[in-house]
Amino acid sequence: MLLRNRLFLALVVLLASLPVLPVPEFWITQLNYVGLYAIVSLGLVLLTGVSGLTSFGQAAFVGLGAYTSAWLSTAHGVSPWLTLWVGVALTVVVALVLAAITLRMSGHYLPLATIAWGLSLYYAMSNMEFLGKYDGILGVPAMNLFGISLASGRSYYYLIWLVALLAAIAVIHLLDSRAGRAIRALKGGTTMAEAMGISTYRYKVLVFVIAAVLAAVSGWLFAHFQRTVNPSPFGLNKGIEYLFMAVLGGVGHVWGAFTGAAVVKLVEDQLQVILPKLFGGNGNYEIIVFGIVLVVVLKVAPQGLFPGLAKAFGAIAGRWMPPTQRVRDWDGAPALPERDKPVAGELLLDVQAVRKQFGGLVAVNDVSFTIRAGEIIGLIGPNGAGKSTTFNLITGVLGLTRGQVLFRGQPVGGLSSREIAERGMSRTFQHVKMLPDMTVLENVALGGYLRSRHGVFAAMLRLDRDEEKRLFAEAERQLARIGMAGQMHELAGNLALGPARLMEIARALCTDPALLLLDEPAAGLRHKEKQALAEVLRQLKAEGMSILLVEHDMDFVMNLTDRIVVMEFGTKLIEGTPQDVQQSPAVRAAYLGTEH
Ligand code: ADP
Ligand code: MG
Repeated sequence: MLLRNRLFLALVVLLASLPVLPVPEFWITQLNYVGLYAIVSLGLVLLTGVSGLTSFGQAAFVGLGAYTSAWLSTAHGVSPWLTLWVGVALTVVVALVLAAITLRMSGHYLPLATIAWGLSLYYAMSNMEFLGKYDGILGVPAMNLFGISLASGRSYYYLIWLVALLAAIAVIHLLDSRAGRAIRALKGGTTMAEAMGISTYRYKVLVFVIAAVLAAVSGWLFAHFQRTVNPSPFGLNKGIEYLFMAVLGGVGHVWGAFTGAAVVKLVEDQLQVILPKLFGGNGNYEIIVFGIVLVVVLKVAPQGLFPGLAKAFGAIAGRWMPPTQRVRDWDGAPALPERDKPVAGELLLDVQAVRKQFGGLVAVNDVSFTIRAGEIIGLIGPNGAGKSTTFNLITGVLGLTRGQVLFRGQPVGGLSSREIAERGMSRTFQHVKMLPDMTVLENVALGGYLRSRHGVFAAMLRLDRDEEKRLFAEAERQLARIGMAGQMHELAGNLALGPARLMEIARALCTDPALLLLDEPAAGLRHKEKQALAEVLRQLKAEGMSILLVEHDMDFVMNLTDRIVVMEFGTKLIEGTPQDVQQSPAVRAAYLGTEH
């Protein structure tokens, strides 16, 4: 898609012709730095922009790549083409160790931890005798490629920009893939992604390692460009600056990394000349300016400069933005694998005296009920009755205090929501959880995660296209099933609540579930939307789907369900047909008692 883009080719031709044009050496050098910085910043777009993990420590990975190559090529005469792989391997190991320690941390602890290891690596580099301490390593050899020396800035330029553009293409391809959608799901919290069967921890680690490797590759290029390394470009200052580039350029966009790197490099040089003249001395004043600019950018243009630039250049640059409307190329794609479905009437879910205590509060008090294949069971009760908690016990979001849940004859109590999703339960959320800046179709395709298998490398190399077609064909089929095929290209964030709830049902259906669990799907819907939802559920039942419907609204479940379980204060009050429930004085009292 990208390589057929004429604009992209035009840029490549322009970039490629610069060194042979009479461009002054100074500008070639500047562009070399922009390319080097953009590679690091690209990793941060992925890590911080897309996945929501902030790192101040990327400069340390740049240093790891740079020092590895500098030391091996000077002290041991190893070819830089080999040291690259040593540096990458070392970085992967270090990143994995750091990820294991820090990525389970939440909130502000991760950024703090990145500061800590950024500093540690910096001081390690500065204090090791064999790395030349603060003086670093001199006389790093220039590179050769097929006998051609890359000693001049003009020839090295080609290597840097080849790597930078290939990295950008790989990241663009990655973001538009099964793994990419999983990565994009990280930012909104882990609950939804895990319910779709995605190991969020695994993807956090992957993204962290990818960002670290990009930084290390930049460091490798840096070492043989400068031909000397010392600790100062790899300190915390620089780590902050890299993050600043990503945020300034537009942390959600691949080309934002390049925009940010270019702006920061060019402005930084000016500031380093001007500021010391204004304030005297030779402090790193530019960091202060960058800090202030960062706050302003976050305030006025939280998306960074790139989207604004793209708009300003109108139609031309607009084509650089990722397209929202996907080309519909999946007709005739083979269907995704399906699981063995239970036969009608088979005991599907057997909830056996499940209990959940939050401290002294018994939120769910030994509740039992069953669901047979093909049934719609309603779980109702006033607010605070324990419906959502029961739902979360069944779906693995919460651990059981006591009791057991059998699904298709197998105990699932104590399994994670991901393992439960694998076994064929799929759910929606009381508060809709989706990726607002992806299309409806892409959101639904997330449900097909467990039915597909291509990973990060296949995505980067575009080897996953056939499977992608199958995924989108399935997503479109599920959208058609609930009557939303016409809206598949809309951004999910633009949907009203009713269609957003239906989209969640389509996403759940895309997992090919044996049991569908819906948490208050009608809450907050207008009358028309409720009718549309009821129609969809009726049709799913007619197709043989089994559904657990957790609802607050008693009228909504009356005409839909085969049986209803009523809860009050965590306890099962009564179970029966809608008629039984409607006529029960106890149920009426429960609802009246808490409602009015
Ligand atoms: P419902 O979905 O029927 O409205 P919930 O299952 O959400 O009810 O809540 C049942 C009870 O458990 C409520 O009293 C609620 O305050 C309490 N509760 C729910 N989740 C938690 C939690 N994570 N920690 C402590 N108490 C909770
Ligand atoms: Mg609830």
